[in-house]
Amino acid sequence: MSFQITENCVKCGKCFEICPWKAIKENKDDFYIATELCADCGSCASICENSAIVPEHYKTKFK
Ligand code: SF4
Ligand code: SF4
Repeated sequence: MSFQITENCVKCGKCFEICPWKAIKENKDDFYIATELCADCGSCASICENSAIVPEHYKTKFK
């Protein structure tokens, strides 16, 4: 299991700053989670004010 950044992201960068595992990466246009680095701690999901970070299976389920 891992977390994913969805289209609700407003690119504030908070999750990028707080991830203890440096698993959140910055693209030219957006942020994404490098799943191989993510430790599933959930910190990013709880800090995101836009509820833009969800467990991967959650997004898949509601696609
Ligand atoms: S904290 Fe939420 S809105 Fe901000 S960059 Fe991360 S996913 Fe996007
Ligand atoms: S769940 Fe934890 S380790 Fe994974 S991206 Fe979010 S803050 Fe980083």
